[in-house]
Amino acid sequence: MTRASIGLTDELQTYILEHSTPLDVVDLGLIEETSRLGSAASMQVAPEQALLIRLLVAATGTRQALEIGTFTGLSSLAIARALPPDGRLLCCDINREWTAIAESAWEAAGVADRIELRLGPAIDTLRQLPEAPIFDFAFLDADKGMYPEYREEIIIRLNRGGLFLADNVLWRGDVVAAAEDDPDVTGLRRFNQEMAEDDRLVTVMLPVGDGLTIARRV
Ligand code: SAM
Ligand code: CA
Repeated sequence: MTRASIGLTDELQTYILEHSTPLDVVDLGLIEETSRLGSAASMQVAPEQALLIRLLVAATGTRQALEIGTFTGLSSLAIARALPPDGRLLCCDINREWTAIAESAWEAAGVADRIELRLGPAIDTLRQLPEAPIFDFAFLDADKGMYPEYREEIIIRLNRGGLFLADNVLWRGDVVAAAEDDPDVTGLRRFNQEMAEDDRLVTVMLPVGDGLTIARRV
């Protein structure tokens, strides 16, 4: 996995970031702190994805948001910052150490009071929520083999007009490599197929980051 968009050179990514709203000091500090984790750092969303997420959360007037896969917090920061002060973000992850870094960043950005973190398998957290449309925005970025299971649990809890974003849907191109059949790849292929066929959604898959699907609940 890479933090640059698929097929994008470092030079072009730099150019893109130089011609977008600058990341702020908390974002930059978080990227720096995460890079010290070594290879795990590649799990962080691309900076241009964080900016896109922030823009979409604001554009949809989202008040209630959901994130599956928080890691050290860059995407959750993008979501939380775009919420109104009484808006709420529910973050799901299993890793206490990584999400402790996220919690510090939420404090530093002044959005900690908008965010609830639930540690534990995200499928359990999802199934404990009311089976009713409660979210205006959902970002899926956790274990790829489970994407098909998360899909329906998310869609039934999404308000009409709400957005459902899913990351890493191209998995470095492995989704079209016939020889690849590990659980992540088969899970992503099934998820991608079911998203495209779901008539409750209008869906576009974009070559942003490692592949980003944006779907709107109609
Ligand atoms: N969105 C994050 C960001 O912006 O930095 C990156 C998320 S990272 C790719 C995936 C995260 O999913 C990891 O923090 C990992 O602990 C979490 N995860 C993996 N399996 C999980 C599960 N079964 N339930 C909840 N979280 C899980
Ligand atoms: Ca990701």
